Amino acid sequence: MSYARVLCAGLVGVAGHVVEVEADLSLGLPAVVLTGLPDTALNEARDRVRAAVVNSGLKWPNRRITVNLLPAALPKHGSSFDLAIAAALLVGAGDLPIDPLEGVAVLGELGLDGAVRPVRGVLPMVAAAVQAGVTRVIVPLDNAREATVVPGVAVHAVDSLRRLVNFARGSDSLLDPPAATGKPAAAGPDLCEVAGQQLGRWGLEVSAAGGHHLAMFGPPGAGKTMLAERLPSILPELDDPEALEVSALHSIAGVLPAGGQLIRRPPFQAPHHSASMAALIGGGSGLARPGALSLAHRGVLFLDEVAEMNTATLQSLRQPIETGRVIIGRARGTVEFPARVQLVVASNPCPCASPAGDQYCTCTPIARRRYRARLSGPLLDRIDIRITLHPVRAAHLVPTDSAVEPSAIVAERVGRARKAAAARWAGDGWRLNGEVPGPQLRRPPWALPPADTADLRAALDRGLLSARGFDRVLRLAWTVADLDGRDRPGKAEIDEAIQLRMGESHEYAG
Ligand SMILES: [Zn+2]
Repeated sequence: MSYARVLCAGLVGVAGHVVEVEADLSLGLPAVVLTGLPDTALNEARDRVRAAVVNSGLKWPNRRITVNLLPAALPKHGSSFDLAIAAALLVGAGDLPIDPLEGVAVLGELGLDGAVRPVRGVLPMVAAAVQAGVTRVIVPLDNAREATVVPGVAVHAVDSLRRLVNFARGSDSLLDPPAATGKPAAAGPDLCEVAGQQLGRWGLEVSAAGGHHLAMFGPPGAGKTMLAERLPSILPELDDPEALEVSALHSIAGVLPAGGQLIRRPPFQAPHHSASMAALIGGGSGLARPGALSLAHRGVLFLDEVAEMNTATLQSLRQPIETGRVIIGRARGTVEFPARVQLVVASNPCPCASPAGDQYCTCTPIARRRYRARLSGPLLDRIDIRITLHPVRAAHLVPTDSAVEPSAIVAERVGRARKAAAARWAGDGWRLNGEVPGPQLRRPPWALPPADTADLRAALDRGLLSARGFDRVLRLAWTVADLDGRDRPGKAEIDEAIQLRMGESHEYAG
């Protein structure tokens, strides 16, 4: 036999695809030709595969070898094809029987010594193989637990090319994946640890219930980070497709937790304000790596000290926040990752960031104004809730009654409110109030009686609120009503919404 075909899988963005690796060995000048749109890493595969075969004590077929990766039109990146290429050409050379590898997807990078190395993105690749009808996969030992997360597939592991060869020849067996720990992922920080901060807690709850982006202003020590870190704890768990998608993104980034389970909690990402564009958006050579934006998909992206962020970086977030997708330009074409995040930004009120609050500020009025100006702009425009937090005084740290609500209780209210909103907007294709366009809320049957919106219209007339801000308040009012179990907002809910939009100082209103 001088022809063989072995199954493998590749990735385009977050989507896995089955790839067939064909090897044809013919007489002629000894050479290896790789076809099927290989990128640079794939050309390097040729040298790695040769070294691995020879260093595993196997005979390199001295013939003209053509390796073809199908479908040809699919862009292929990364090193996950090495093991399948080695297997295909050894089968083609007549050194291995094909039967044990028939219909099995084989994934893994080869080291020069013949060791099988882990690759990124095993989870979505195995999921794609299963979808295409594959029932058995052979993956690197270090990726095996991750592969077992995918239901409906038998996962075998290898640590070396030699082991795969011996298995096919019937003289050795494949390895079992390491047992899953069975431990659920550790629960994140809980809201019961945040005493005081009534406004902050309320802002967080409304943000979670309506899917509203949130901005928090205040001096260091006001608890902005503490609050933001606890937003995932009051969001609903991810459902099955969401969990698979989120886990796939973390798998491609190589940061999937080792427990051998799907990510079920909404993720939390807090990139530093000096983070590079690639770290935020994604990119890198070879197999594109998702950035913080995509690792926060279905969860929370927290930008602390947002006024310190580079303007261009902030700008680059605008489109993804709007569309829920990140598009990364590549040498050949583009790659797309999902990035539907709940955005939380925090900022000090001014550059000196006096922890004692505004009365001790040493900034000039111009410096303060310039700093605030950085916070306006298209990205901040998308944020519904803008609250100002003050440092918690000692008296507030000791709760007067022992009833500092834990996240579980708040999450229940959030869940109920989300259900109410989803039922209301089901016919229009929205799930959360934060997704509903403003004009929709000003039209019947959703328009609110003029008597209830009098204060709101007054704020608009006096220039305290922009037209866009007006719509944001309406959206927030619906979420407040959902949280209160009312079927539409009344005056009290609108007042609360104004509070969440404008705070007590009107400095950040708009
Ligand atoms: Zn200052």
